[in-house]
Amino acid sequence: MSGTLYLVPTPIGNLGDLSPRAAGTLAAVDFIAAEDTRVTLKLLNHLGLKKPMVSYYRHNTESRGEAVLQRILAGENCALVTDAGTPAISDPGEELVRACAQAGAPVVSIPGPCALITALAASGLPTGRFTFEGFLPMNRKNRQAHLDSLRGEGRTMLFYEAPHKLPATLRDLRDAFGPDRPVALCRELTKLHEEIRRTTLGEAADWYEANPPKGEFVLVVQGEQAPPPEAPDLEAGLERVAALRAEGLSLRDAARQAARELGLARNALYQAALGETARMP
Ligand code: SAM
Repeated sequence: MSGTLYLVPTPIGNLGDLSPRAAGTLAAVDFIAAEDTRVTLKLLNHLGLKKPMVSYYRHNTESRGEAVLQRILAGENCALVTDAGTPAISDPGEELVRACAQAGAPVVSIPGPCALITALAASGLPTGRFTFEGFLPMNRKNRQAHLDSLRGEGRTMLFYEAPHKLPATLRDLRDAFGPDRPVALCRELTKLHEEIRRTTLGEAADWYEANPPKGEFVLVVQGEQAPPPEAPDLEAGLERVAALRAEGLSLRDAARQAARELGLARNALYQAALGETARMP
């Protein structure tokens, strides 16, 4: 009978965020597939655990993934962990989950720390609809194509970025979405120097041009806002009232009908039409 792949999120800065269920799973599995075994060893030492580990990182997902899958299919339970946060989210894991799913091995995803959700919740920007864009491509052409694909995007957009690339990314985001677009820069989440700066892309680009950023960042960019609906036009209402009056309707009936047709407040239109009538020679 097949074993199970457990996706175990680890803290993104604060060790207190490792859940009892995550710790219990690390204690219970047969082995751990870790992005960096040295980082995970520190976590295991903190928990007082000893566990066999294999490394599973970006450049060996194919070969090592197959070996991990075979062990799971042979009946072993495996916990997949990355250096910080939720596996398979801008981290190794996606291919292994797919391989397990295709081979019929159960996958259990344990909820826990994830930088993008932590940032979104604290951003103060709309959370109802959002799109996670991960890291923008480094290649100029692919990067521009990615930004072009977000033109007119109305949902809140989330980006991961390394500090040394942040100034260039902020410049590109400003050029793509305009300097006035609101952004929340969520830095060092859950850590001692956690900071959430709510500003605009223009101001953020200028600030980090002059002040080299430090620490880890999630950028939360507001989506494009639909233009406000046009205010109902009282002038058009009065013209319609006049036309209906010419057809023989009373002032009250003409105002009621014109208001209904044009989506205006009936009483306001009636009072305005009354004023017009009084001004007539
Ligand atoms: N799998 C992880 C998760 O669930 O969030 C993300 C891993 S990705 C390789 C690393 C990126 O996540 C960083 O470059 C940064 O953009 C973001 N990140 C991770 N920890 C963070 C923190 N404490 N504060 C802000 N951003 C963080």
